[in-house]
Formats: sequence, C-alpha cells, structure tokens
Amino acid sequence: MHRKCFHLARLTSRLMILMCRFADVANKIMFNRKRLTLARERRGLTGIQLAEKAKLTAITISRLESGQTKQPDSETVYQIALALNYPIDFFYRETPEELDPDTVSFRSLKKMSAKQKNAALWAGSLGLELYDLIEGIYQLPNPDLPEFGGQIDAESAARAVRQHWGLGERPIGNVLHLLESKGIRVLSLEEDNSNVDAYSFWRDGHPFVFLNTYKTAEHTIFDCGHELGHLVLHKHGGPKPTKSAEVEANRFSSAFLMPEHDVRAAIPRRLISARRIVEAKKRWKVSAMALTVRLHQIGLLSDWQYRSLCIELGKLGYRTGEKVGMEREKSLIWQKILSDLWARHLTKEDLAKKINLPYDEVERLIFQLAGDMPKKQQWTHTLKEVKTH
Ligand SMILES: [Zn+2]
Repeated sequence: MHRKCFHLARLTSRLMILMCRFADVANKIMFNRKRLTLARERRGLTGIQLAEKAKLTAITISRLESGQTKQPDSETVYQIALALNYPIDFFYRETPEELDPDTVSFRSLKKMSAKQKNAALWAGSLGLELYDLIEGIYQLPNPDLPEFGGQIDAESAARAVRQHWGLGERPIGNVLHLLESKGIRVLSLEEDNSNVDAYSFWRDGHPFVFLNTYKTAEHTIFDCGHELGHLVLHKHGGPKPTKSAEVEANRFSSAFLMPEHDVRAAIPRRLISARRIVEAKKRWKVSAMALTVRLHQIGLLSDWQYRSLCIELGKLGYRTGEKVGMEREKSLIWQKILSDLWARHLTKEDLAKKINLPYDEVERLIFQLAGDMPKKQQWTHTLKEVKTH
C-alpha cells in the first residue's frame, strides 16, 4: 500500500475506533450532570440565565446539576444543548476530569472571580480530552524535564534547565517550540480576560501548560518561562500556589529567558536607557518591563535607576503593552497535526466532533497557537507514525 494511504488507513481506523468508543459510551451512560455544569460555566452563564435561554425553569437546571433529576427527557437535553451551543452527545460522555484548583498554578489568582476561574479550569478539562484524542493518534515527544531534589533557587534552576537542554547562554529562538520538543503539552486558554494569565500542572507524568493568548506575544513568552518554572520547581511543592512560588516562577522565567552573562554582554551598563531597552528587548523576545526588571535583578541598574526607567517606560506606554510588538509564536506540534489531518481530508471540525465538543471550544484551545489550516503546498508529513496498539 502507498505510504500515504497506509497512514490514512491507520489514522482513519484509529479515529473510527475512538469514535465508536465514544458513541458506545454515549449509548451506555446516562446524562452527565458534571458536563452540564462544565458547559454552562464555559459559557459564563448562571443556572437562572441558562434556564431563561433554554426556556426551562431554574429548578429544572438546578435539579439536573445537583443530580436530583438523573435522566432528563430528550426535549430538555435538546433545549439545553441548543442554549449552550454544545452537541447533545457531549452531555452523555463520561464524567470530565476536573483539575484540582489547588494543584493548578494560576498567575493572577487574586484578581480572578470564581466564575473566571471555573471557566478557565474547565478549559483545562476540555484540553485534556483533546490531548487524549491526539495522543491516541500521534506519538508526541516524551517529557524531558530535570528533577530537582531538595531546595534550589530559581536562578540555579534556570541555569540547570538550560544545561540539561544544552542551550548554553544564548537567547532561545522559539520558546514554545522548545517546550513542546521537551514533551510539554501546550494549549491556549483564549479567555477574553486579562486576569487569567496561564496555568500549568502535571498529569500522569505529563506536563501541561495553558497559555492565555489574550496578552501580548512577549507576555506569552514570559508566561512560558513562568509556567516552566512552576513545572520544575513546584512539581512536588504541595497544594496551594503561594506568593513566594509566584515570585520564584517569575525569577525563573527572567533567568531562563535572559541569562545573566548574555544580558551583560549585550547591554553595557553605561549605555542603559529606555530607548536602549526597547531596542535590546528584541534579542530575548521579552517585554521592555521584563528586561528592565532583569537588569535590576543582576545589578546593572540601581534601585533609583530602575524606578526612573519604570516611570519613563510607563509614560511611553510600555507598562500595559509593547508599542511595536513581535509576532506571536506558534505551536509546531499543532501546526503539524493540523497539516497531517488536513492532508487526510480531516479538519478541526472533525476533531471537535470526535470528542463531541463544539467547534468554537476546539478553536479556542488551539487557534492562537496553530493559526488557520495550512495551505495545500505547506502540508508536512514529519509527525511520527501513528501509534499501533
Ligand atoms: Zn504562577
């Protein structure tokens, strides 16, 4: 058989198996109340708002979510599915995996409302389901993150990770590609809210990072470093993300993205000015403020100089964004997956259908990372062979 056809057959049969499995599950199990809560909270609705939208009573919704009503009639489920714009089959899947909020490292926990937090956590649950599907089809890189036994400070940890990955002191070309190549599964949150920055967690020995691509490209790169910091420094660090863990992760990201020797070599102390910082930040693909913080951390700026530069950069608009921003980094893995699927006449819509998700949820998880479906001439076939079982 022609290689391409072989792959297509393998992939299609694998997808068929997965599809049948899900259909089988859908036939066997009952209405899943957790999935109703998930979909409702993803859509940012209260029970009352959903009831109004679905032309049902608030009691009906509340009984369903509390489990008092176990099996609603098909008309009720149809009304709910329509109001939430989720496929009916979604509500008959197995109970979704809930992320433990205490083991998830949120960056701006204090600023987030419970509603935002729940919506962002459920995005993580959907992301896991999407990755489970993908890992059933493709062989993705295995995790390759160093383990740190005992206490290690953030600067030393950043140096050790660079050493482990053979990066030396040079700037990292594409941070997202690097993380993916080291087995970190990256997805996008794309919440319309700047309070939800990013989060990360370990699941069954696999590290996951969810990035909020609502922020600037530079901010997202810093988030990559910050979440990597959590993954290596706080893997066994106990439940709640603490303030000191956040400070450590920030320091890790600074040191990882902007190694001290490289910064010293590139920016002589006597030449530091706001203009120079704005120019120099491109080397490490960080924000002007992040570079200013780094210069202060490594002693190239006195406290007074640091404060003055922060004020100056703030007046120039660099506290809230980058005047001339860089292009957003894209996920190599997702681009490859989509290329590969596209070459087999499968689309993102097909992916969504396989796991009974609405298309917009899949799009939110990957669009900012993967972009549009590739053009025909950009098809690639470099993904490893589909798993056989
Ligand atoms: Zn954090």
